[in-house]
Amino acid sequence: MRVKFENARILDIKTGKVTKGVLTTCDGKIEYVGAPKADESVKYDRVINANNNLLMPSFKNAHSHSPMTILRASAENMVLMDWLYKVVFPAEAKLTADDVYWGTKLAIMEMLKSGISATFDMYFYTESVAKAFKEAGFRACFCSAVSGGNTDEELKTALKRLYNEYDKLNSYSPLIKYYAGMHAEYTASDGLLKGISAFVNDAKIPFYTHMSEAVGESEGCVERRGKTPAELFSSLGLWNYGGGVYHAVHVTDHDIKLMRDHNIMVSTNPCCNAKIASGIAPIEKYAANGIRVGIGTDGPASNNSISMFKEMYMLICLQRILTSKPNVLSGLFALQSATIGSSKVMGLSNTETLDAGQDADLIMIDMASPSMQPEADIANNLVYAGGNELIKLTMVNGNILYEDGKFNIGVDENEVYSRVNQIKNRIFA
Ligand SMILES: [Zn+2]
Repeated sequence: MRVKFENARILDIKTGKVTKGVLTTCDGKIEYVGAPKADESVKYDRVINANNNLLMPSFKNAHSHSPMTILRASAENMVLMDWLYKVVFPAEAKLTADDVYWGTKLAIMEMLKSGISATFDMYFYTESVAKAFKEAGFRACFCSAVSGGNTDEELKTALKRLYNEYDKLNSYSPLIKYYAGMHAEYTASDGLLKGISAFVNDAKIPFYTHMSEAVGESEGCVERRGKTPAELFSSLGLWNYGGGVYHAVHVTDHDIKLMRDHNIMVSTNPCCNAKIASGIAPIEKYAANGIRVGIGTDGPASNNSISMFKEMYMLICLQRILTSKPNVLSGLFALQSATIGSSKVMGLSNTETLDAGQDADLIMIDMASPSMQPEADIANNLVYAGGNELIKLTMVNGNILYEDGKFNIGVDENEVYSRVNQIKNRIFA
């Protein structure tokens, strides 16, 4: 598949500078970026007149639970632990592998519409979720969601699930990766923590988990285990090969030092943290300490949307509330976090920029839109005034999966809507 975008404006995400030109893709890679070539004999499958619209690297969702679209708006106005234990866990117990497949299809549509080309997901029935991504041609990373392990039998089952999924999903599709991880410290037994650490150190691989999200979570860990989650993970060797943490809202300066020393990246989820009053992650401190930040939406049951525009806006605004400084971080920082930062968190280093040789994961921004005018500063317009309505096209691995309101993911959108409503009615009957 060869695609050529003509008359485009192209964003250099590293500098924020925009140049006019042509971008071509071939077999999933960006082939050429620059001035139009005078004599070109190449035949393209599609030549797209970008009409002076903006091409930029796609957004990557550095933390989500895609199938949780099913639970959207089903549990509102609750604190995290009540939300989890009183509504989410009982509802999830009724979900089937087919249910999470359809919930994932809905999430894929929502992500494409927000210019997101890849997600870092964590859920159960992982093979069903992976099947939905593979069929759609969507890029996905998984982190193991194992928890528990309080009895020998439970521990054996959890670790077996981790080993099996790691092997199976890492060879399932070129667009799918699987990383070692677990749900969270507060749902893991000592045996599980040790078992995962042995796996991580044997295979010399990074480790990912939710960490220090809710108020009281870190204090609870200190009571249970005499250490903060960051101190616990580093002391158990779980961070010997780097990795990342989702949320990292309530951390100490010592935690930040440990994260920096172990190359731990942060996937921040500002909208979800604000909506369920978890707090504001110290992103300015992370950036000042050289800790890489990517942006995730978290699951659509707690957020409730999957929109990278909302996340970028909230990321900056919350830092300004937290620090009382109107000049802390910048629109470009948010844009780079949602692209380069998230790619780094997800280990997708070939999707960071629009340079030749990178994977062709890109979006086209509608510049003839009121919120993008006047063009005083494109990055700031995108972050502070932009929304999903700006996304004209989302390309994943060289394939256009969303264009001008239409999805190209192998399934009719009305069937997806009908299925998820049937599932929602059944599990909440
Ligand atoms: Zn989460």
